[in-house]
Amino acid sequence: MSAIFSKIDLHTHSTASDGQYTPTQLVQRAIDRGLTHIALTDHDSVLGVEEARKAAEGKIALIPGAELSTSWKNQQIHIVGLFIDIKSDALTKYLEGQREKRVERAMEIGAKLEKQGFKDPYQTCVNEASPGASITRGNYARYIVKMGRAQSTNEAFDYYLKKGKSCYVATHWPDIQVAVDAIKASGGIPVMAHPRRYDLTNTKLRELLEYFKSCGGEAMEVSSPQMSPSDYDYLCSLCEKYGFMASFGSDFHNEGSYRELGLNLRMKDELTPVWRTKNAEPYHFEN
Ligand code: AMP
Ligand code: MN
Ligand code: MN
Ligand code: MN
Repeated sequence: MSAIFSKIDLHTHSTASDGQYTPTQLVQRAIDRGLTHIALTDHDSVLGVEEARKAAEGKIALIPGAELSTSWKNQQIHIVGLFIDIKSDALTKYLEGQREKRVERAMEIGAKLEKQGFKDPYQTCVNEASPGASITRGNYARYIVKMGRAQSTNEAFDYYLKKGKSCYVATHWPDIQVAVDAIKASGGIPVMAHPRRYDLTNTKLRELLEYFKSCGGEAMEVSSPQMSPSDYDYLCSLCEKYGFMASFGSDFHNEGSYRELGLNLRMKDELTPVWRTKNAEPYHFEN
């Protein structure tokens, strides 16, 4: 199947979490690639949004977002909030809680990496990200590659960071309900992120979507770069079945990966795109 480029990308990362580029550089990349709309959705952080908004002004529509970490049945599930008010009290409170958790966890992972012979992993990752950024395993994976201890970030996960490996730290994130409530209280739309990337059978995935719906979830991502046609068809059918709005995004983090801004993002005509909601009105979607 040929590559399909969309001018809209609703899932991206900057140095406010585990992305390679600053919010300004990310927005410039989107402009250079001819996009008209980009959502910045850093992990548990909205710290990059103001900078991105300034860089976007008059050139591209910047949708404020965040990707919230939650736990469901021992799985880490990501809920993207789109069209959020980044100054909302409810969201700020949620993100402050997440930040405390993340700092503690990142320091624990750093200490474990030190035991494996790495030097100053935590401080090195903090220095490379924006001030106050969420330090995720994604930051550590790139650090491990840079130190020459893995060939790719995927390998860094396989060797050190994933469940069962020496530097894994189990974390209990808030319930999906808490994330959905925080997003809605900030005027945003809760979107189930990359439903195919979890380690779930189809039955479990449907259970997850049913639970998300019962919590007030409103949309789900139906496509991302490199998704197989059968996964895409399946996600579109689930989106319709549960009456969600449809979103999509590359989940772009860094150069040189198949996740590129606007790449291979598709949407079926029978679905209602998330930008049809009134929350999206200020952003002038025309497609
Ligand atoms: P955390 O929220 O700290 O658990 O980190 C999750 C982040 O790590 C994800 O958003 C990805 O950016 C990255 N990640 C997860 N699994 C992998 C993998 N297998 N290879 C490369 N990056 C990964
Ligand atoms: Mn990430
Ligand atoms: Mn994610
Ligand atoms: Mn993401």
